[in-house]
Amino acid sequence: MSRNGWQKTTRMTKQKKVILDILRSTKVHPSADWIYEQARRILPDISLGTVYRNLRLLREKGEILELSYSRDFSRYDGNPQNHYHFMCRKCGRVMDVDLPLMNELEEKVARLIGGKVETHRLEFYGLCQDCCQE
Ligand code: ZN
Ligand code: MN
Repeated sequence: MSRNGWQKTTRMTKQKKVILDILRSTKVHPSADWIYEQARRILPDISLGTVYRNLRLLREKGEILELSYSRDFSRYDGNPQNHYHFMCRKCGRVMDVDLPLMNELEEKVARLIGGKVETHRLEFYGLCQDCCQE
């Protein structure tokens, strides 16, 4: 591998690690913009495009979850295991919902469609505690 290629790979790895560390150290299920602002404090030269590229790579490797809420809006999660979320429609907060995984639902759906279920996603929407009190 050329010297430049090696440097590029090393930098990529460092960027990826910084992004992964940021995601694993928060419970807020941040957007790419938020991750970008945090990453810039550690790597001032990082670009938003690089953040998106690394988020995609981490998702493809199964190290993070991407929670897509529309075609061009996602939140990210450092916990790659399937689990459930609640999103507040007022403040946009995304929280973990501590429910056991409903694997029996996958079996039921597989029987209903006569096929194979590989995963499922369950989202709850409403008002969070803070927004309820306002
Ligand atoms: Zn709220
Ligand atoms: Mn989560």
